[in-house]
Amino acid sequence: MPLHLSPRIGPELRSALAETVLLAQLSDALGSPLGVVLPQQLTGNVVAFRSVFSAHRLSGQIYYAHKANRSNALVRELAATDAGIDVASLAELQHALGAGFVPQRIVATGPKNQEFLWLAARTGVIVSADSVAELAALAALVRDRSLPRVRVMARLSGFTSAGVQLNSRRSRFGVSVAAASEVLDVIEKHADALDLVGVAFHLDTIGLPEKVVALEGCLGVLDECRRRGLRPWSVDIGGGFGVDYLADGAQWEQYTSALTEAVLGRRAPLTWNGHGYGLRAENGHVRGSLNLYPAHRPISGPAYLDRLLRTTAPEQRRPLGTLLLDNMYDLHVEPGRALLDQCGLVLASVLEVREDANGDTIVRLDCNARDVSLEEHGVLMDPVVVHRTTPAGPGPAGAYLFGNLCLEADLITRRKVFLPSLPRIGDLLAFVNTAGYLMDFSATQALRQPIGRKVALYRDDGAWRWCLDEQYWPVHHPVEAP
Ligand SMILES: *Cc1c(COP(=O)(O)O)cnc(C)c1O
Repeated sequence: MPLHLSPRIGPELRSALAETVLLAQLSDALGSPLGVVLPQQLTGNVVAFRSVFSAHRLSGQIYYAHKANRSNALVRELAATDAGIDVASLAELQHALGAGFVPQRIVATGPKNQEFLWLAARTGVIVSADSVAELAALAALVRDRSLPRVRVMARLSGFTSAGVQLNSRRSRFGVSVAAASEVLDVIEKHADALDLVGVAFHLDTIGLPEKVVALEGCLGVLDECRRRGLRPWSVDIGGGFGVDYLADGAQWEQYTSALTEAVLGRRAPLTWNGHGYGLRAENGHVRGSLNLYPAHRPISGPAYLDRLLRTTAPEQRRPLGTLLLDNMYDLHVEPGRALLDQCGLVLASVLEVREDANGDTIVRLDCNARDVSLEEHGVLMDPVVVHRTTPAGPGPAGAYLFGNLCLEADLITRRKVFLPSLPRIGDLLAFVNTAGYLMDFSATQALRQPIGRKVALYRDDGAWRWCLDEQYWPVHHPVEAP
């Protein structure tokens, strides 16, 4: 029985996928793999996040976490909206400034070198600082180089709550909330150089309870600021709102329970060399835990933010959204993955279709596991076959997808995927909804294989048009009716 994990495909991506002739031409002209981004979809996603702010009567900024995709087109299109951008390197900051973001719409996060700090301070972007040392270094830079006073956010981590038992994972970023007073000390000491505008966290998890505790913890630190006479007015809750990758939650249940059965040897293997995605069999019992992104997540993106704001703070016993509103705090978010929901796909051409000695169908692709890094991020979903002519055979066809690296491990996904029909050489597999992290984040030039080029696909009066990603500016299509 085929075990499909059908991707959730929205109307714009679906319409783009229907342009089979165009997609084949693009692949022929620009090679495989090819990243395709849909910048206008990003605008729609900003609107959806904004509507959650409105529903809770909260103001604040939606900072797109640039690191999720290197695309120019996405960042330039975003510059045409009211959103901001979260940059995590010198090059990302330069890119954002060049794409049209004024410094007031930029927040600099992540590990920073002196050059990154200098450009941030020079232009006046908000610096989200990870440590007391970073704040001190920034203050010294401001003073030594006669820079304007910098607006800073203090990133915190290690939140705990008397109300709930939580094991939050150790983070290399942010100052432990227990040491928050040291941060405030250094800010007070360097008040001529540093202007504290708020506190921040970003937890690398989609777990709601951890975020609830973190947000309430931040509110506590803001209280402490007020007691000291500091006047920060915002909380930045980072990213991690998640994406719902699958159309059907029942498929996810079926797949994961079948995987367990396969790990226990109770059914034929579903994965290459019996890989268990974190599960293993021990004396007839399954051990370990599924090391996968929960690909079916009905409450994700803007809905996740809404859920968080409606959640009652464990200690103050009022909804977090209400607490923010009553204190007149701004709420900032930094979604990467969630803002890129439905914003792109990766096309890879089929080099070979064969049956191996075990009777498994092998589809070899002209791309590798770094070009579509589903495995690295633990996201399981099926590709869509873009046929040039008629299918080579009826489906569903179970197949393993080999990549173009001379490496045993280079499978696009280590599980058998069930394609609706068998492709031929030259057909394309489209990995949809891969704009967030799964497109270029991990791409390398190992074996001198090319990093995929990127095109922007956009609608101009209804018709699909395209250009190279670096050629795209948001003046190419008419202004959309709101
Ligand atoms: C990566 C990152 C984000 C974005 O996370 P998503 O899971 O893509 O939403 C936001 N803020 C910071 C500081 C990050 O490092």
